[in-house]
This record gives sequence, C-alpha cells and structure tokens, in this order.
Amino acid sequence: MKIKQALKNIWNKILDIIFPEDFKCILCGKELSADGYFCDDCLNQKYNMIFNLGNRCEICDTQILPENKICDNCKERKSHHNLYFEKCFCPLNYQGNVRRAILKFKEDNAKYLVKPFAELIFNRLKAENLKLDIITFVPSHKKTVRRRGYNQAKLLAEQLSILLNIPCIELLEKNVYTKRQKKLDYNKRQENLKDSMRLLDKDIIKGKNILIVDDVITTCATINTCASLMPKAKNIYATAVARRNLFVDYTQKTKKY
Ligand SMILES: [Zn+2]
Ligand SMILES: [Zn+2]
Repeated sequence: MKIKQALKNIWNKILDIIFPEDFKCILCGKELSADGYFCDDCLNQKYNMIFNLGNRCEICDTQILPENKICDNCKERKSHHNLYFEKCFCPLNYQGNVRRAILKFKEDNAKYLVKPFAELIFNRLKAENLKLDIITFVPSHKKTVRRRGYNQAKLLAEQLSILLNIPCIELLEKNVYTKRQKKLDYNKRQENLKDSMRLLDKDIIKGKNILIVDDVITTCATINTCASLMPKAKNIYATAVARRNLFVDYTQKTKKY
C-alpha cells in the first residue's frame, strides 16, 4: 500500500512538472472549473483590482483623476523633453495577488506564468492595433540573470513574439550592475540607470516601431531610459504585465480614481 501511495505521489509530481498549474488561478493557485486565468474569488475582489482600469494616463497607463488626460509625471517628462516613448500598455494592476504572482514569476522560478502573462498582454495590445516591427525587452545584468536563472522580461518578450508573430531581438545590454531600484525616486532611478545600459545594434532599429517588454512598470524610469537609447527608432511603445498605480493608495482600501 505504502509503495502504491509513494508511486502515486511520484506520478503526481511528474504530472505537475509536465502540466504545471494549467487549470489553476494564476494569482492564488486555486483549481479552476473552467478555462481562464482567474478564480471567482480573485475576480470578485473589491473594486475589481486585478485589472488596470478606469481613467488612465494616455502615455504611461497609470490611473488618474477622470478629468485628466496625462499624469503629472508624464507632464513633467514632456515639459523637460525627457519623454522617449509613445505609450505604455499594462493589463493588470500591481497590487495584492497580482503583485505576489509577479514576484513568484520573477524571483521564485514560476516560469509557468509566462504563458498566461504574455496572453494577457497580447489581449491588451490587440485592441490597440499597433504597427510593430521588433519586440525587445528590458535587459538584466548577467549577475541578476545568474541569480534568478533567467530574465523574466526576456521570457515574456519571447512568448509575446510567438503570439504577435513579430521577431524578438535582444537590443539592449545591461553592463553595469545597478542597485535595486525599488526605493529610489524617479530622478535617482534615472541617474542610476544612465550609462548602465547600451544599445547592441544601432542600425537595426532605424525607422522601426519597437515594443519594449518588462514585467512591471512603476515610474517608467527603466522604460524611458531604454527608449532614450534608441533615438533612431520610429515609435517606441512599452508593455508590462502590471502597472503599479502611483496615484492610488490600495493599502487604504480606497479607490480615489
Ligand atoms: Zn484566485
Ligand atoms: Zn503618465
């Protein structure tokens, strides 16, 4: 009996490896009765916080007051001629379960999430009808890739490349190891990122429409730095699984916008 149970456990583990988390909610891991990404509990969270909805900045996709078109950060970037990308697209809202799932994907080897995450981005982009020539991704320093075992933005870009049928090309390299960016403000981030990356091929981007992929967009400092290194590109767009909405305090459980 014990042997039978042990064999069953081994078999289940094999199945988990072959079909990992396929019919589970991508946020909380609960089994799903039907095809989809999210369970009812996650979908029924207060204010429908999974998705990045409501009135959003036309440039960086962050939630803003209904009467506004662009956010203060983008206004400032524009007035300082410091805005290098056209537009961002982020289907999910970086909070709660979404945040946990992304951290799992990024730091905890949960590579099975790449497919659903890329599909969510794909569905968001479909509505935009963008003309794109190249998909690329935010580079990670080789030290970071060694620690994680992969660059999560590259995995997303490769999956998206299959879905959109547009080539994924590694355009940027991170050659200076920068401190973790989380706690730095926008100017410090930008300063820190400056000179830490380099464009690998100047000619390939000439006159091209480029989509830069990342996992999360917070201040846009990373995306903006990447885009600033490609002055010869035609249009540069950015996408990420989730947007950290800077002007909404979800910890207070109040939705201002
Ligand atoms: Zn769930
Ligand atoms: Zn904005």
